[in-house]
Amino acid sequence: MRIAELHIYQHDLPVKNGPYTMANAQVWSLTSTLVRLISDTGLEGWGETCPVGPTYAEAHANGACAALMEMAPGLIGAEVTTLTLHRAMNGLLNGHNYAKAAIDIAAHDLIGKATGLRVADLLGGAITARVPSYYATGVGEPDDIARLAADKVAEGYPRLQIKVGGRPVEVDIAVIRKVWETIGTAARLAVDGNRGWTTRDALRVSRECPDIPFIMEQPCNTLDDLRQIRGQVGHAIYMDENAVDLSTVINAVGTGLVDGFGMKVTRIGGLHPMAAFRDICESRNLPHTCDDSWGGDIIAAACTHIGATINPRLLDGVWLAAPYIEGHYDPENGIRIEGGHINLPQGPGLGVVPDVSLFGDPVAAFGG
Ligand SMILES: [Mg+2]
Repeated sequence: MRIAELHIYQHDLPVKNGPYTMANAQVWSLTSTLVRLISDTGLEGWGETCPVGPTYAEAHANGACAALMEMAPGLIGAEVTTLTLHRAMNGLLNGHNYAKAAIDIAAHDLIGKATGLRVADLLGGAITARVPSYYATGVGEPDDIARLAADKVAEGYPRLQIKVGGRPVEVDIAVIRKVWETIGTAARLAVDGNRGWTTRDALRVSRECPDIPFIMEQPCNTLDDLRQIRGQVGHAIYMDENAVDLSTVINAVGTGLVDGFGMKVTRIGGLHPMAAFRDICESRNLPHTCDDSWGGDIIAAACTHIGATINPRLLDGVWLAAPYIEGHYDPENGIRIEGGHINLPQGPGLGVVPDVSLFGDPVAAFGG
């Protein structure tokens, strides 16, 4: 089976009850980039990549589109097998993992449809049909975030992530303490700085909250910052934004720099490298999440399929943007969070079939 046509679409996803607030950004609407692969056997596979604005990572919506247009002509006629596609993409463009991920996801969907297998089965096999999610609060005031945390625990979320940073650290400490006093051990806690704290802030938070068992996710901006605080904080440290590729992950794991990861499927280049990441973490007993930064049903399905294959003991949850998005690409099988968990789609491939009419004309189309 070969790639006969590659179509690129862009689609705006307004943030429901926006904005969504992180240490370095407020976002009101995100532009998602979609890839539709059509095979020479007439099957279709869908991929998606949706950076959460231009400042969260070294990724932005127009960059995704440009990178896909750079690679697309060289991929027409390519065999739809995931490893060879990654090698072909790397031969056409250096870096830009987040754009390559859209093609990787579409290829998995296509192979699943051709074989009748779910993507989770292609990735090694699902361990569960109900994947735990976690809720990210956004940056807010102590009483508001504590109330939200209590609501989300009541909904059934097994884990909460409190966003911090971008303001005086005293307020962050007050939020963490208020949430802990409100929910206690009813849910596991992550505190996500999204690169926004100085090392000084991170050290202070850890010293002033020694009794609160949260993990500290990407507190500061660089790998050097993490090395600087690593031996001084009492809390476990997870790497998120800095984990840009497998090489960085291998170094972080091998040197004991972190206790786990917040991982994004598109940042690392798609489901094929994500499966390698999963196996590296399992070999060293390191927990991690399995998310993406933003995106609709296609990204949500991809994250859920790989999430279903992760050792449950090590899976810290699959975060989805679904609670912030109105409607679905696939009204019937769209990915939803219910009771803090996500049901694994059961159809072949990703198990979601987007309504192409939602996306209008393609931005570009190749082959055919
Ligand atoms: Mg994070």
